[in-house]
Amino acid sequence: MKIFQGIGVSPGIAIGNVSVIKSRFNLSYQGKIQAKNLPHEIEKFKGALNLAEKEILATQKNITKTLGEKYGEIFAMHLLLLKDKVLQEETIKSIKNDGFVAEYAFQRVLNKILENLGKKGDTLFEDERKDLFDVAEKVFSYLNREKSRSFIIKEKAIIAAHDLSPSQTAAFNPELTIGFVTEIGSATSHTAIMAKALEIPAVVGVDDITKQLEDEQTVILDGFNGELIVEPTSALLGKYKEKQKEYLKKRKNLYMTKGLVSKTTDGKRISLMANIELPEEIHTLVKYGAEGIGLYRTEYLFLNRRNMPSEEEQFHSYKKVLLLLRDKPMVIRTLDIGGDKFISELRTPTELNPFLGNRAIRFCLSQIEFFKTQLKAMMRAGYYGDLRILIPMISIFEEIKKTKELIKECASELKKDGKKFRELPLGIMIEVPSAALISDILAKEVDFFSFGTNDLIQYTIAVDRVNEKISYLYQPFHPAILKLIKISVDNAKKCGIKTSICGEAASIPEIACVLLGLGVDELSMSPSAIPDVKQLLRKTSFKKMTEIAGKVFEFSTHEEIHNYVKKTLNERGKK
Ligand code: PEP
Ligand code: MG
Repeated sequence: MKIFQGIGVSPGIAIGNVSVIKSRFNLSYQGKIQAKNLPHEIEKFKGALNLAEKEILATQKNITKTLGEKYGEIFAMHLLLLKDKVLQEETIKSIKNDGFVAEYAFQRVLNKILENLGKKGDTLFEDERKDLFDVAEKVFSYLNREKSRSFIIKEKAIIAAHDLSPSQTAAFNPELTIGFVTEIGSATSHTAIMAKALEIPAVVGVDDITKQLEDEQTVILDGFNGELIVEPTSALLGKYKEKQKEYLKKRKNLYMTKGLVSKTTDGKRISLMANIELPEEIHTLVKYGAEGIGLYRTEYLFLNRRNMPSEEEQFHSYKKVLLLLRDKPMVIRTLDIGGDKFISELRTPTELNPFLGNRAIRFCLSQIEFFKTQLKAMMRAGYYGDLRILIPMISIFEEIKKTKELIKECASELKKDGKKFRELPLGIMIEVPSAALISDILAKEVDFFSFGTNDLIQYTIAVDRVNEKISYLYQPFHPAILKLIKISVDNAKKCGIKTSICGEAASIPEIACVLLGLGVDELSMSPSAIPDVKQLLRKTSFKKMTEIAGKVFEFSTHEEIHNYVKKTLNERGKK
């Protein structure tokens, strides 16, 4: 038995056989073939392309049906890459002229294309690189007469991979993929966000795990504490089966909470809203009893595609979600690109410090026409429901001033064009310490604040949010974080504007209680986190939350505050 430690990013326990996605790149295929075998080698290559195409088409159909069109689109791009003339013709030429075996010829051509796409790690063409890797993996496996395993598994399995691209994660069949573990990533990485949306237990950041595992080994994956147990003893297996049963029972009971009102024991109503990344996720709102959308991350609409969505396309997409929501509110965020999210089409240059670079509102203000297109689409969609605009990563006053000017311009242009629209409530994310510290000034300019704790923690404690090596510094209870939130909440109250939390901290029930105690009005989180948070709120009084919040600043560390909060909330629970 061996135990590996990573970071649990999506809750749940998975027990089963592992299926390892080992990269076939950099394998030494070098070898020459005899002239008489050349036609056969070329046929072998063409056959592999054919089978890869069939597989992509089948996956595309499947995914479009289960997860929606947006995911299906990813595979249209894979087909384009597979049918790339250079890739096909150059490989065949190399087999013919150099006499290389198909695998080696293919790998050489591929390497050349990858070289042209910049160095590994270059963010500029990262999406293309990942897509190309996905496609090439398939061709390699068919060249080796294996069924490609990068997407399709026939039996229930826990997937182990170095990293998972957005398309791979999206392509998993949630019925068969019972968990996954990767070597890199973090709680806020794309893989983690998708795992939570699909409700698949996941662990990331386990060094070298694909080298340590073999197909078919039995493993236990604990998405709560980030452990991966390989070939467990029967005693441990029994213990985890019990734990899994308990969790599934608890989750089933939690679904039942969707109809219960979210209020404290002393009657304070607290709205619990959902964070979504894709329009298709809207069905989860009903499942978990969300009262609306507190954060719609629009950047996912721009990823994995070759051309930017027009005003019309964005308008229809936002409007569709709003209509599905009926009269429930939706907070929609303008593009938060940069940091760890990139759009190849926008050709954003590589930066040394992307999280401190041309990200979010900074990027939008450097691309005014692009920004106005999105603002107009939102204002037009807002005509059909309760829509509110949220601006990410405000760090200086001028950014909100300029944004308001642009919104005015958009309004007069829309009016001139005779398009229906509404002037919408405008809020900002408080996720940079400078914004929290001038929140008295900012509160006079906007209609609401939303705390992005994922970034607020990153920028306040100077801890890269996607670096698993320093995840111990990622401390939501750090007194500095709580102080910045308190300052901003107090300033918001003075101006009579509402505050909400939309970072991951809102989904941790104990933190949620403290933040409510500090005066935050509303919480927004991954939909699946709502039942747990609601359950704790329903057995705690608001008075207690306020008392706890009043004491937290007497402690010096995250650890001390965490222990105090846990202990006090538990005491309350027993009464
Ligand atoms: C945050 O920073 O907390 C947040 C909600 O935004 P994102 O995770 O998209 O940066
Ligand atoms: Mg953020």
